[in-house]
Amino acid sequence: MNKAIFLDRDGVLNKDTGYPHKIEDFILSDGVVSGLKKLKDFKFFIISNQSGIGRGYYTEEDFHNFNNHLLDILNKNNIKIERTYFCPHHPNEVCDCRKPNTKFIKEATKEFNIDLTNSWVIGDHPHDVEMGINAGCKAIYLLTGHGKKHFDELKKENIKPNFTAENFLQAAEFIIHNKTNN
Ligand SMILES: [Mg+2]
Ligand SMILES: [Zn+2]
Repeated sequence: MNKAIFLDRDGVLNKDTGYPHKIEDFILSDGVVSGLKKLKDFKFFIISNQSGIGRGYYTEEDFHNFNNHLLDILNKNNIKIERTYFCPHHPNEVCDCRKPNTKFIKEATKEFNIDLTNSWVIGDHPHDVEMGINAGCKAIYLLTGHGKKHFDELKKENIKPNFTAENFLQAAEFIIHNKTNN
């Protein structure tokens, strides 16, 4: 079986400049390349809520252009994202793919034979952590992106990440050292 890291995108892999979708606004987050390189035993997936599409802020094509730019940069650094899953819906649509729903994790698990108990979610929003816990993964809450803004909600909603990290590299290091505890 394979171990996976389910990565939120905006605020985790790239800076969240507010519904980022233009390549000229793309900024890679600190420590992402070095962090992902440390996690070489894992398969990587992106799971992203992209309600900006449902809200009419940008198109699905804009989303793919921006996302492909990120994937290209990671590729050049020999980092492979197996699949990008995204929810294009407006929150009011009440779909089954928007995080914290676990639909995309379940899809990846089936297709890539994932061992969820040894897999992780890394995200900067409480719904990322919630999705991970709901799916039976471990989860890291990142204080980058929107992480600081939503931090209090974790407690309020009784969502308990395995670790809260200041940045991506710290998250990666926690996962590596935690490995032996499984
Ligand atoms: Mg995010
Ligand atoms: Zn959706």
